[in-house]
Amino acid sequence: KQITTDIKTLTRDVERFAQDKKLEIETLKIRENYRKEFIGNVSHELKTPLFTVQGYILTLLDGALKDKKVRKKYLKRANKGVERLIYIVKDLDMITQLEVGGLQLYQEDFNIVKLVQNVFDLLEMKAARKNITLTFDTDYKESIFVNADRERIQQVLTNLVVNSIKYGKPDGTTEISIEHLIKNKVIVRVTDNGEGIEKKNIQRIFERFYRVDKSGSRKEGGSGLGLAIVKHIVEGHNEKIYVESEIGVGSEFSFTLEKSK
Ligand code: ADP
Repeated sequence: KQITTDIKTLTRDVERFAQDKKLEIETLKIRENYRKEFIGNVSHELKTPLFTVQGYILTLLDGALKDKKVRKKYLKRANKGVERLIYIVKDLDMITQLEVGGLQLYQEDFNIVKLVQNVFDLLEMKAARKNITLTFDTDYKESIFVNADRERIQQVLTNLVVNSIKYGKPDGTTEISIEHLIKNKVIVRVTDNGEGIEKKNIQRIFERFYRVDKSGSRKEGGSGLGLAIVKHIVEGHNEKIYVESEIGVGSEFSFTLEKSK
């Protein structure tokens, strides 16, 4: 009888072990697919600017070097391509940090009104090129102190405003507003009157490398990682991000932050 009990226990242990191993293998397989997909996406993103730069270099080598004017034009374009590559690599670096290493936050009290003004100053030229007006609307013009990682929140605001310019229509507006919410929170909204996003795509835009209009978005530059980075940062703060959008009317991205005590 004892032997039967022992065999039963042993069989159960072996079954459990096999089940655990199976789960482990499944997880590894998922991870492996994820890795492969990531690498595939990365090389795809890098290909276009790399070929562009190579194109200009080859044209220069082919004779364009001799013409001073053409030479400068092509070198400038090649440099633009390199800038694009640097931009993509920086975003990749950031998403890897966020996904692999977890998010290290350096939280401090800072004035979000000032941060919005900084971001607007940095992006003014970019907006001006499309004649887009940047406006700021808040009941508390001078200061609203929040507790968060200042640099990361600057990144969030920058990515959202850059998108509002990229997908905004010429002569349009981007508005940032900040409102107080209950429970010691504020909500920051970035609103544009641009092309908007179809309902079926709204859920997917926060996925890395997801783009609604592949060719259109690529023409506008970017890495397809901007919103994935934004979501990671906001959720890393245990806060929420929302999006509302209507085709032809515009989009509003908003996120919450904790007020300083
Ligand atoms: P990228 O802009 O580099 O393509 P993002 O992750 O920042 O990548 O955005 C993902 C996609 O979401 C964009 O390609 C675009 O299709 C859509 N999108 C983001 N912001 C807006 C916006 N303000 N208006 C319309 N579409 C947007």
